[in-house]
Amino acid sequence: MASLYQAQKKIYPRSVSGLFSRWRWAMVLLTQLVFYGLPWLEWGQRQAVLFDLGLKRFYIFGLVLYPQDFIYLTGILVISALALFLFTAVAGRQWCGYACPQTVYTEIFLWLEKLTEGDRSARLRLDASPMSLNKLARKTGKQVLWLAVSLWTGFTFVGYFTPIKELGLSFVNLGMGPWETFWVCFYGFATYGNAGFMREQVCKYMCPYARFQSAMFDKDTLIVTYDAARGEPRGSRSRKADPKALNLGSCVDCTLCVQVCPTGIDIRKGLQYECISCAACIDVCDTVMDKMSYPRGLIRYSTQNAVAQGWGHAKVLRRVFRPRVLVYTAILGAVTIGLFLSLALRTPFKVDVIRDRASLARIVGGGKIENVYRLQVMNATESPQSYRITAYGLPGLVLASEGRVDVDAAQSRWVAVTLQLPYEAASPGSHAINFEIEAIDSSARVTEKSVFLIPR
Ligand code: SF4
Ligand code: SF4
Repeated sequence: MASLYQAQKKIYPRSVSGLFSRWRWAMVLLTQLVFYGLPWLEWGQRQAVLFDLGLKRFYIFGLVLYPQDFIYLTGILVISALALFLFTAVAGRQWCGYACPQTVYTEIFLWLEKLTEGDRSARLRLDASPMSLNKLARKTGKQVLWLAVSLWTGFTFVGYFTPIKELGLSFVNLGMGPWETFWVCFYGFATYGNAGFMREQVCKYMCPYARFQSAMFDKDTLIVTYDAARGEPRGSRSRKADPKALNLGSCVDCTLCVQVCPTGIDIRKGLQYECISCAACIDVCDTVMDKMSYPRGLIRYSTQNAVAQGWGHAKVLRRVFRPRVLVYTAILGAVTIGLFLSLALRTPFKVDVIRDRASLARIVGGGKIENVYRLQVMNATESPQSYRITAYGLPGLVLASEGRVDVDAAQSRWVAVTLQLPYEAASPGSHAINFEIEAIDSSARVTEKSVFLIPR
């Protein structure tokens, strides 16, 4: 019977050291320092970075954003996408190899695996051996460490959406709410599954970036390349042997580049979509070249054009400034400047006006028509503010309620506002009016449209 499904062979990546490995670990440390550390930072009396979904307020250091500021989130997403286009066109999948959470957590999990089960050959032996106390202890130790990291990651993730100190206290007192528990477990489980078990399969089959990156690549994009002209014909030989006399290239066919590859590919077969540009194969091949006293760089970061035409660094660098890169840079620069300008110039408070549906319009004493509104005033600054409310748009329109509202720092407040108009001042129907809300110190002003109803 022919099976339509081919089971994945488990990959046992060998650990590697070298220049790019150090860069990868530097990125692991940097990204994780930011991810795990940021929610514990304080800004004044509150958490510096907090996306408080309950209160519908986002705090990013001195910035207080409301749902009405959603446009900035859109701007950040557009900038991220453009940056990805630009960096991919220039440097290929560097994001995948050094900073993508999938790579970063897989690196951490592989390190814990090596700590408990040993390097590649020891792991291969352990998996092939029958169950024993030693095997059980090593396997259990690994799972416990993986679970601890996963749960801590889930906890930290939730700490961006609910104050992390309170979350920590409720965790210690076993009093976490059902939603918080669900999301800690959900995100923790995703980390555990993706970094512990699925690993390269996420990059190969689940990540959309791997699929559409080819549209952003060209022959001048930096990729990890094997110099076939120099390496072939490959073959083993002694260190002292002269490869020319043996009619061999520089590749000693040690397969170490395949053994260190986290996605299990052989870079000597050429550029493949599974390659995440992690450069582990460069590091290991350089050590082989050193041992053989051959020049380094049989596998190296280069471009297809550079390898095919033997270009030097200077020419490769010049090709970075090609039209598509310049266009991406110009658009990215314009959108980034636009976002920062609009953030710098934005009004430090927002107002929503809602008509009171319980009493659309009524006649009150003195022959006046009265309309009632509810105003939500949102203070987006870090200090308490007072605002003056006025309305205009119809002759004789007056404010019949409190004309001043005080709002605490980074808080919002609902106030009922009553407007009155002499009965004969306008014809029956709906009339456009404006509310003007101004900071008491006249530093900012917001105008909101509404309508005044006059019954027949
Ligand atoms: S590590 Fe280098 S020398 Fe060894 S097989 Fe790979 S390309 Fe050849
Ligand atoms: S081929 Fe090299 S750079 Fe690509 S994923 Fe494998 S080890 Fe990393």
